[in-house]
Amino acid sequence: MKTTIIREINDETMFLAGKVIKDGGIVAFPTETVYGLGASAYDEAAVNKIYKAKGRPSDNPLIVHISSVDDVGKVAREIPENAKKLLDAFAPGPFTLILKKQPSIPNTVTAGLDTVGVRIPADEIAREFIKAAGVPIAAPSANISGKPSPTKSEHVILDMDGRADAIICGKNAEVGVESTIIDVTGEIPVILRPGGITLEDVKRVCGNAEVDKNVLKGVSKNERPKCPGMKYKHYAPDADVTVIEGDKKATKEKILELVKLANNNGKRVGVLAASEDDFGADLFISEGKNNRDFANILFDALREFDKNNIDVAYVELSMDDSLELAVKNRVYKSAGNKIIYVGEKA
Ligand code: AMP
Ligand code: MG
Repeated sequence: MKTTIIREINDETMFLAGKVIKDGGIVAFPTETVYGLGASAYDEAAVNKIYKAKGRPSDNPLIVHISSVDDVGKVAREIPENAKKLLDAFAPGPFTLILKKQPSIPNTVTAGLDTVGVRIPADEIAREFIKAAGVPIAAPSANISGKPSPTKSEHVILDMDGRADAIICGKNAEVGVESTIIDVTGEIPVILRPGGITLEDVKRVCGNAEVDKNVLKGVSKNERPKCPGMKYKHYAPDADVTVIEGDKKATKEKILELVKLANNNGKRVGVLAASEDDFGADLFISEGKNNRDFANILFDALREFDKNNIDVAYVELSMDDSLELAVKNRVYKSAGNKIIYVGEKA
């Protein structure tokens, strides 16, 4: 398939991208979370092309993207009070609401569920594109299934050139991890996937909220997975990733020890850490000052490991500020739940 790569954003190119959608094609587009791969949410054949392009199992639902709060009712048949509060507070922004779906949204989009994920991206190019298409856009992340989600247009080109009809090249994603998914169909909002809008944000607006137990399932200290890597591998680079979690002094010591060992075994070692020290690794990438910085660079860093032929990678988890849950959720999966707890956490 010949992929049209759109590098200049103007009325003409947005019209062109909208036309691809109207004609039943699939288009990769930028958002503030990660790049998406979209099709008309009303067109089952087009939606099936997304699953095929990604190599993604079709029992995993897609999120429906709209350009304005005014359109929520086109996709969802009920808008509960907590949904209204969250839309007022944060839309457009990096979160997805789970709502009861309108019958016009096909099962192919929702994997047979009676609910639909609805998102209004803050990224202006995303909203211009959705407007130009004139229909809600069903989209997952624009990566090959299992690989880290794309946060830069070059990631999308690498994964989707030849698989999508068009790719819109926008800015690097600002948040860097996928949207917070909040189920608002029950009495208390439940976070199904952590992201840039935090549990505290939702509690502040709705008065109460909880995190679904599956978010970090199998990886809390008392509930370690019986078979690491079997169930949750996702966001995975080719390198063998291990998470080193604990207070900074202990994680630093452990990483130094592991890098030495791997070097002695002739392995190419990558380290992703909050520290400024490069640990003598073949590739060192700094996580930045806090988890917001870390979320922003995480998926790019995982892809850098592959670019640099890294065999083993150590990722430090030592920062516990507001985006901790969002970062942890992705890092654990990228490592197939291989975690070494050190210091007080050990
Ligand atoms: P992706 O960001 O590529 O993983 O795609 C969207 C994700 O949204 C899916 O993996 C689901 O976890 C989630 N999702 C979409 N629709 C629903 C829904 N109706 N109920 C629960 N989760 C959903
Ligand atoms: Mg994804």
